Amino acid sequence: MNDCLFCKIRDGEIKSEKLYEDDMMFIIKDIAPSAKIHYLAIPKVHYKLLKDMTPQDTIDLGKCFFRIAELSDSLGLSNGFRIVINQGEDGNQTVFHLHIHILGGEKMSNKSVF
Ligand code: 5GP
Ligand code: ZN
Repeated sequence: MNDCLFCKIRDGEIKSEKLYEDDMMFIIKDIAPSAKIHYLAIPKVHYKLLKDMTPQDTIDLGKCFFRIAELSDSLGLSNGFRIVINQGEDGNQTVFHLHIHILGGEKMSNKSVF
């Protein structure tokens, strides 16, 4: 049984509005925003960590970044944004399905990444 929160959101088992979706990834709003705008871009394939990806898999991750940049104006991020990927215990990762935090809508502090 797959108990992964983001797999359940991907499959519609847990409701969350998808602001964008394609065959590779989808974008939702973070439930506990750390900035005025805080989205999560979630690859559809379940990878726990970056280190679980093959070099071939990272091509799709690159395409996710490309798509985020393409969508940034329509997501209200025309003035810039920050991307964060938390990894493991010290990265304070809480959901172990690889995802990209997209933060913006205000000037981000360099004292803390979130
Ligand atoms: P992590 O800490 O793993 O880098 O990021 C997980 C993120 O998922 C957190 O920022 C948290 O607020 C968000 N989150 C946790 N549960 C839910 C949920 O049910 N729906 C949404 N949209 N975001 C969630
Ligand atoms: Zn998953």
